[in-house]
Amino acid sequence: MLSVIELERAYCAHNYQPLPVVLTRGEGCYVWDEPGNRYLDMMSAYSAVSFGHAHPRLLKALGEQAARLAVVSRAFHTEVLAPFVRHACELTGLAMGLPMNTGAEAVETALKAARRWAYEVKGVAEDRAEIIVCDGNFHGRTIALVGLSSEQNYKQHFGPFPMGFVRIPYGDAGALARAINPRTAAFLVEPIQGEAGIIVPPAGYLKHCAELCRAHNVLLLCDEIQTGLGRTGRVLACQHEGVQPDGIMLGKALGGGFLPVSMFLARREVMEVFTPGSHGSTFGGNPLAAAVGLEALKLLVEERLAERAAELGEYFLGRLRAVQSSYIRAVRGKGLFIGIEIDTGRFSARDLCMRLASHGILTKDTHESVIRLAPPLIITETELNWACDRIGDAFLEMG
Ligand SMILES: *Cc1c(COP(=O)(O)O)cnc(C)c1O
Repeated sequence: MLSVIELERAYCAHNYQPLPVVLTRGEGCYVWDEPGNRYLDMMSAYSAVSFGHAHPRLLKALGEQAARLAVVSRAFHTEVLAPFVRHACELTGLAMGLPMNTGAEAVETALKAARRWAYEVKGVAEDRAEIIVCDGNFHGRTIALVGLSSEQNYKQHFGPFPMGFVRIPYGDAGALARAINPRTAAFLVEPIQGEAGIIVPPAGYLKHCAELCRAHNVLLLCDEIQTGLGRTGRVLACQHEGVQPDGIMLGKALGGGFLPVSMFLARREVMEVFTPGSHGSTFGGNPLAAAVGLEALKLLVEERLAERAAELGEYFLGRLRAVQSSYIRAVRGKGLFIGIEIDTGRFSARDLCMRLASHGILTKDTHESVIRLAPPLIITETELNWACDRIGDAFLEMG
């Protein structure tokens, strides 16, 4: 009989290379595999599981709403949509929201809004709008979004790509100043680049970018799909610099670890470019997603998860920086969004992830040389201490 891993290999497209564990159950910060081994989840599904697995309050919201009314499409009004979007607006300081499902859809929505805004409000000539993006960006996997990427592996042989995008170095506000011209609609940026390897830009970068955008009537669009909802120690990562963007994208944790739920939020003037029929999604804003998303936003505030991430993240970062290994090149991050960059001369980040799995810690490498550490925000100091000791052990064994 074929094992689950062999079956997956036979039937499922090979667009991922999972670690060889078969997970069957999750609760809080932990997941269990088939033979019953317990692992500390230090990846949280790329921050989708920021509230931990099977959070009782989210599970309750999910069950109750699923039994009452789950999906009706936006052809009709439902009771939960407005409370959900209103809560998201109040939490982020933006006027209106447009719910979608995956992060990529929220980014596509932002790009559509920015282009329409350029033509209808800013007065850019039809089909001439430009959107500026950064080297190393990750905004999702649609054709348009991989077209923005500087990563060959994401885009090779998927072309041709849409036009109207300009790419500049990340972390360099001077490059943004030089790239802006009268046709520029928006600057799309991650406050901290996640998939690129937890890249924290120089202090003041986002603030400087925001000033440039305001001065030139360019929309600042922050992709907070991974950095948002408490991950970096603030509700939004852009709040570290007191920046209020013209639009943001949320996703991942917005679905409480249960469902794909995303949203584009923006100033009223930007969102009002959408008119009936101009954009949509069959599942976007469905009652089930709205009920879980609303409960997730309430939990974030009531359980002070952003504050926890700030305190625990600083502590964990300090402890990780004290781990002695000649293979560690850098330990960086903000809140509970941390990357360890290693010297890959002797072993890869994936080798280290395999070793960590044997010690009961699950995480994932990014770009062969960085190990991502982004546990559920409900993790405790005791669990972080345990994780840090195991990480130290793993480095010792590898070296
Ligand atoms: C994950 C991610 C996306 C895409 O989200 P999906 O739900 O996978 O489509 C977009 N932007 C950032 C910054 C992300 O981390």
